[in-house]
Amino acid sequence: MKLDSSMAAVVTGGASGLGEGTARAIAATGARVALFDMNAEKGEAIAAEIGGIFCKVDVTSDEEVAAAFAKARAAHGQERLTVNCAGIASGQKTVSRKKDTGEVRAHDMATFERTVRINLFGTFRVLSQSALGMVGLEPLEDGERGLIVNTASVAAQDGQIGQAAYSASKGGVYAMTLPIARDLAQEGIRVNTILPGIMWTPMMAGMDQKIQDALAAAIPFPSRLGKPSDYASLVLELARNVYINGECIRLDGAIRLAPR
Ligand code: NAD
Repeated sequence: MKLDSSMAAVVTGGASGLGEGTARAIAATGARVALFDMNAEKGEAIAAEIGGIFCKVDVTSDEEVAAAFAKARAAHGQERLTVNCAGIASGQKTVSRKKDTGEVRAHDMATFERTVRINLFGTFRVLSQSALGMVGLEPLEDGERGLIVNTASVAAQDGQIGQAAYSASKGGVYAMTLPIARDLAQEGIRVNTILPGIMWTPMMAGMDQKIQDALAAAIPFPSRLGKPSDYASLVLELARNVYINGECIRLDGAIRLAPR
């Protein structure tokens, strides 16, 4: 699909990090962008800057998500592109590979449930409500009605030390991508999932500088942490290329090849 002023897009988690970068990049194409986020202060400010709208929403609520889509569609029309970036980390960011992180002994079910509710259930909720709206759209020239991009993590495939809940929640997003893409393909709706590696965003704030440097150095090339613009440009490429469907794409500078 060609993003331009005739298109409407929704970006969850649009008030920060990867979602913010993506909202800005989509708005730069001329498309009308609605930011869905819990952080109203930042969300309103970014929306005003990029000429979009902000919808305050907690992705764990059916009603709030439905109300946000209603508001966005009333302002911009039915979205053709939805990017799911809202999410939280579940645990420590600075754990040593050698120590027991204590996660199992802590048996913190509240954190586990909250993480899965936001990262996995929230993604499915937004995805399905968006797809139900997209099916009513006239197909574009090539038969496409819409595109949904989800955000998992390399933790979905590799696991992440100290973050079992996070890894599980992202594993769910990874695993549901292909079956959902297959279902929605018959409606001309594509579904792809991006698996970011270590991206420098507010989610990583608080990470020790030494650890940041070590992680960046461990990335074979380009030996730096990822940036929101790396993520946003992949979203734009996914929009451009109608032949990419049902994929889970790692965006990580090949960090799994890092020496351990
Ligand atoms: P971030 O913390 O900068 O932004 C996340 C945004 O989601 C925030 O604006 C927050 O308010 C919003 N949010 C959180 N819970 C919400 C809820 N219940 N309802 C609505 N909005 C909610 O994080 P980021 O680094 O930009 O992460 C974006 C996505 O990318 C997340 O899903 C994250 O798990 C994933 N990811 C990030 C990294 C990384 O290294 N930063 C790596 C892999 C995957």
